[in-house]
Amino acid sequence: NPFEELGLAPELVRAVGDLGYTQPTPVQAQAIPLAMGAGEDAGGFIDLMVSSQTGSGKTAAFLLPVLNTLIQQKNEEEAEAKAEYDRLAAEAAARGEPAPKRNKRKDPTNPRNFKAAVPGALILCPTRELAQQVAHDAIELVKHCRGMRIANVVGGMPYQVQIAKLQNANLVVATPGRLLDLQRSLQIKLDKVQFLVVDEADRMLDLGFADDLAEVNQLTEQRKQTMMFSATFAPRIQQLAMRVMHDGGANVK
Ligand code: AMP
Repeated sequence: NPFEELGLAPELVRAVGDLGYTQPTPVQAQAIPLAMGAGEDAGGFIDLMVSSQTGSGKTAAFLLPVLNTLIQQKNEEEAEAKAEYDRLAAEAAARGEPAPKRNKRKDPTNPRNFKAAVPGALILCPTRELAQQVAHDAIELVKHCRGMRIANVVGGMPYQVQIAKLQNANLVVATPGRLLDLQRSLQIKLDKVQFLVVDEADRMLDLGFADDLAEVNQLTEQRKQTMMFSATFAPRIQQLAMRVMHDGGANVK
């Protein structure tokens, strides 16, 4: 399976198969391996600037690598928690005591209990319709992953519903205005965002979101990777990239 060869987790390969994708599109084949990088051990993630049109498969080109890393991190956390439990159980056995009780509700090795207090990934879209489409695609892609939650944060929707869903979202798909509203009212914390994607960067600027992007850039300074997708690479897009990419865009393919 060509998606497996890209290094994607089995849960994602299955979801892609369910969607009927048999081959990565050109933008996926190029962007996914670059975006997953060599991982932190080999120096971390690189920032990407990708020229892509609607219909090219660009959404999966950024969702798949981001979700794949989030899944890997979740698996590692669960494996650590399980190893810790096994160690405690072995110690108890050596003392001739029964194994410690597993609190099913709190057991972090139970995938149902995995909670991200704050999102690890943030996708910014210029319009509500696009953000809803991207969130919908993300939900399809994580359907075989337990404990991976997607939240959609867009204007024109009731705040309460969005805030409730944000409680344990791993990935947030947002339009900039509503996201910053929620950030200012302390309903969302962005300081654990590791991956920032700016989708349709050219439309983002057309719609006057330059200042909002600058603010999100500052609020997510600690992130490991930025990806910008745009139909054009006009000078103003390159200027935006200079501002939001690590090393002023030097570290960009
Ligand atoms: P996008 O450019 O992300 O808006 O995607 C355009 C359409 O292509 C969407 O309907 C996707 O579901 C579909 N698509 C994305 N990747 C693939 C693929 N590898 N094979 C077939 N269809 C795809």
